[in-house]
Amino acid sequence: MSIILGAIADDFTGATDLANNLVRAGMRCVQVIGVPPQTLALEDVDAVVVALKSRSCPVDQAIEDSLAALEWLQGQGARQIFFKYCSTFDSTDAGNIGPVSDALLERIRATSEERLGSRQTVMVPAFPTNRRTVYQGHLFVGDRLLNDSGMEHHPLNPMRDADLVRVLSRQTPNRVGLASREVLVQGVEALRDHLARLADEGVRHVICDTLDEADLAVLAGAVAEYPLVTGGSGLGQSLPAEYRRLGWLEEVTDAGRLAPAEGAALVLSGSCSRATLGQVEHFLERHSGFGLDPLTLAESGDQLAEAQAFARAHLQGERRDEPVLIYASAAPERVKQAQQVLGAEAAGRVVEEAMASLARTLVGEGVGRLVVAGGETSGAVVSALDIQQLRIGHQIDPGVPWTQAPLAGRAAPLSLALKSGNFGDVDFFTRAFEVLA
Ligand code: ADP
Repeated sequence: MSIILGAIADDFTGATDLANNLVRAGMRCVQVIGVPPQTLALEDVDAVVVALKSRSCPVDQAIEDSLAALEWLQGQGARQIFFKYCSTFDSTDAGNIGPVSDALLERIRATSEERLGSRQTVMVPAFPTNRRTVYQGHLFVGDRLLNDSGMEHHPLNPMRDADLVRVLSRQTPNRVGLASREVLVQGVEALRDHLARLADEGVRHVICDTLDEADLAVLAGAVAEYPLVTGGSGLGQSLPAEYRRLGWLEEVTDAGRLAPAEGAALVLSGSCSRATLGQVEHFLERHSGFGLDPLTLAESGDQLAEAQAFARAHLQGERRDEPVLIYASAAPERVKQAQQVLGAEAAGRVVEEAMASLARTLVGEGVGRLVVAGGETSGAVVSALDIQQLRIGHQIDPGVPWTQAPLAGRAAPLSLALKSGNFGDVDFFTRAFEVLA
């Protein structure tokens, strides 16, 4: 079966964010980690999001990886390609949003027939639900312009200019234009005419104003048949309705339905973000947990063995249906202490290695429902378990859905929720398992 939408996301959590929005809008969605080596048997799947690490890597690498993802998605029959980046347009003058968009559009034009929109692409970074909006081409975070939102201090891609036409013009030799709100309020036909006029004038990329969900619906109406669109996950909310209107997408009652979850429940937390610290505390008031400490971990393997024994005793005990937590999460002063002794990188590494090892052992011994807190920690766990694809399920909290991954040698899939640092309400660790039940 062919998919409708193939998305290329420039980082992992951004990929999940888009996939989550697509499921909520009625598409059955799978996220793959990197470009799979072969085509996948995608049963009952409407959209695939390929998660790359191309946001801050060298531009040549970003182009190469994105083109490989494009080719793979075309092989899966994708009718539309969505290049997904951050709603704060994270990029530098060297790229990667402009060069990757140029490369994708050129490749699509070279490999398919001329069709509506194949001469240009739209740029829709806005995500009004998260208060990222664009007006007259200027990106706002809440009530601040992008360059006054804190993003001007970002360590990898400081955003010092909120005028996206100007920002993108520095990243591409091609012409950049604007679809302003004045056009959007006139509706889909007016926007289509405007885009066609810009294409005739040689404008390759069109930054699109977006203030609210109604604007997203107009944008989706105008570009659903374009071979390539680009933007944040907001556009993902509104495209599925257009695919249904076009007769591409069938109505499904529960796009986030997963197989029944099986096995014991475990939380691994390696995030020291403020939200996670609150979630750990909340959990420990209700359930049992085991704390890891990088300094002790670095001395010998004893603490890791103790953590395993603790989890095993729980898995075999009377309360095995309840979730249990293993955490390295610690307040800033304790983190600093460990970093001073071991160095920041080594402190992070011993914790990540411990979490990876625990995940491998305990999933092998019967854990079937796993919550992981921390972006880097999630990356370590996913690669330790050799997970390549995640079917996206129901949302626990905004941006964080349950997912399921097939595991070699096991009939039931692993249910997995990957939460990056500051996501989720205080009761996330307990409520997650209720959402899954
Ligand atoms: P977040 O999403 O909150 O940023 P990450 O998992 O991406 O979480 O990053 C947290 C980093 O901190 C990881 O590298 C983790 O191994 C490390 N870490 C976790 N606990 C400690 C600790 N107690 N001391 C020092 N580093 C820690």
